[in-house]
Amino acid sequence: MFLNYKKWLFCLGVMFFVIVLYSGLHWPDKKLHVYFLDVGQGDSIFINTPNGKQMLIDGGAGNKIIYELAEIMPFFDRKIDVVVLTHPDKDHVGGLVEVLGRYDVEKVVISGVESESSDYLEFLRRAKNSEVIYQNDKIDFDFDGVFVDFLFPFDSLFGEHIFAMNDSSIVIKLVYKDVKILLTGDLETDGEKELLEANVDLKADILKVGHHGSKTSSSMDFLEAIFPEIAVIQCGKNNKFGHPYPGVLENLQNAGIEKIYRNDIDGRLEFIF
Ligand SMILES: [Zn+2]
Repeated sequence: MFLNYKKWLFCLGVMFFVIVLYSGLHWPDKKLHVYFLDVGQGDSIFINTPNGKQMLIDGGAGNKIIYELAEIMPFFDRKIDVVVLTHPDKDHVGGLVEVLGRYDVEKVVISGVESESSDYLEFLRRAKNSEVIYQNDKIDFDFDGVFVDFLFPFDSLFGEHIFAMNDSSIVIKLVYKDVKILLTGDLETDGEKELLEANVDLKADILKVGHHGSKTSSSMDFLEAIFPEIAVIQCGKNNKFGHPYPGVLENLQNAGIEKIYRNDIDGRLEFIF
């Protein structure tokens, strides 16, 4: 009986040690981690700040995001500080419906644009459990040392019907110390032109290429204004759209971008600063 008790105590001790060790791998390490998650054909970017605050921008189409989050978040962590939806298309909102169902999300940022898509309506229904913030030019915030600069749309789209939904995409620049990361959602050349004409400072070190590398985006002028070192293309393996478009890859090379990473080839990407 005494031996059994000792054995139990030993087992409990080992379990505790394993849990502490496992959790330790995920504890804030005073570094910024930016993940471009492998969610197939769609966008999803996860930010873990130096003190462990978490922001998720888009969630891909299906529930692949849930498996991705399980890989990079501690198993006991059921809370996400901020979720941003760039625009209501399925390959951005679909996975966020799952995320809102499974995680306690404190704040949700949306443009407020109108859409009748069932995924978007379900997303809005579930977002009622969070504080919903409508994007406009005044909501820039300091996220634990990471400045979140909302560049686009210029005006609130709350309640607006937009035909070219991609050009309603929320565009964000993340600034952490001397690193700048530009996230353009599915913005197309018309939206790019608006940003250029407004003389917005687009300069960034890393660019999340617009609209999964589609030919509708990444005009030469736009790329030259950003002048990034690294480009990331979020697209799925053998996707039916043929993303990324060869002409876009050519543009990226002509713009002097040194390194192009793709989720369809490289899987999940993680940048640590
Ligand atoms: Zn998309």
